[in-house]
Amino acid sequence: MIQLYIPLNFLGVLYREIKQSLADMERLFSLMEQNREVADSAGAQPLKIGGAALKFSHVDFSYEPKRQILFDVDFDIAAGTTTAVVGHSGSGKSTLSRLLYRFYDVDHGGISIDGQDLRQVTQASLRQAIGIVPQDTVLFNDSIEYNIAYGKPGSSKEQIVAAAKAAYIHDFIESLPDGYATAVGERGLKLSGGEKQRVAIARTLLKDPAILIFDEATSALDSRAEQAIQQQLQEIARERTSLVIAHRLSTVVDADQILVMDQGRIIERGTHMQLLAADGLYTQMWMRQQARDEDEVATEQVADPA
Ligand code: ATP
Repeated sequence: MIQLYIPLNFLGVLYREIKQSLADMERLFSLMEQNREVADSAGAQPLKIGGAALKFSHVDFSYEPKRQILFDVDFDIAAGTTTAVVGHSGSGKSTLSRLLYRFYDVDHGGISIDGQDLRQVTQASLRQAIGIVPQDTVLFNDSIEYNIAYGKPGSSKEQIVAAAKAAYIHDFIESLPDGYATAVGERGLKLSGGEKQRVAIARTLLKDPAILIFDEATSALDSRAEQAIQQQLQEIARERTSLVIAHRLSTVVDADQILVMDQGRIIERGTHMQLLAADGLYTQMWMRQQARDEDEVATEQVADPA
């Protein structure tokens, strides 16, 4: 009986392993799926990065026919500066980041980096130049070390540790039972939203891209965790051209330029102070956010009177 049990047990383990690998593959393919519609054009050249100035020129876009999502979106991001995009849910903010990464091509107009249209450069070189800190970071069922190194396969342990330190997640990793070898993901240790975002920041630091896209989490982290992430973000955005999709307005105050989107159009633009002076949608959103933040601080103080 025991003789039979051991192979059966082994088969059970093997079955679970295969099932999990298939789940990983499925996730990878669903990421690749988004890329289905775009391909390198004949004669596509590698992107040549100078200062990494970005330009959206009169962009119209729809995911599906008959439902236009972006209308005549037109803006520049000067090399090395930060532009934040704000607006109600569904106004088209994240769509801008998907187009910049070229998950989709625009219907009209164009997007260029240092004067090179995205459709004329190879996707590999484009994606090499862009680092994304997404809303919800996908963790692979592997060690935390692997998950950070994913930003730049082949990185040395020293480089991985340096990136983790810069993302302020090194001490947390060292406190785990197996340190950098600790298994994370669905089968391993589950990380909080903030910890996952730090892994994404470490990945991005390792990749060291000229362009940074930060898609802020919609699910609110508590305000202390959020402030810490914001600070790190500012550090990594320095010297890079950055597009920040902001779901909370507190993130955007220091941006060089803020774009306010409404139903797929840019309806206001300027710095925080300029937009407040304009007394439009941004000001309304800002007032509402301030009131919510005050409520949140009051709640946190009740929960943690120290
Ligand atoms: P949020 O603040 O909620 O993240 P957002 O401003 O980033 O919203 P987008 O994600 O850019 O909004 O979506 C803009 C519109 O495009 C929404 O109406 C959404 O339903 C639609 N949309 C987004 N992704 C797809 C898709 N893959 N296929 C079809 N429609 C989509």
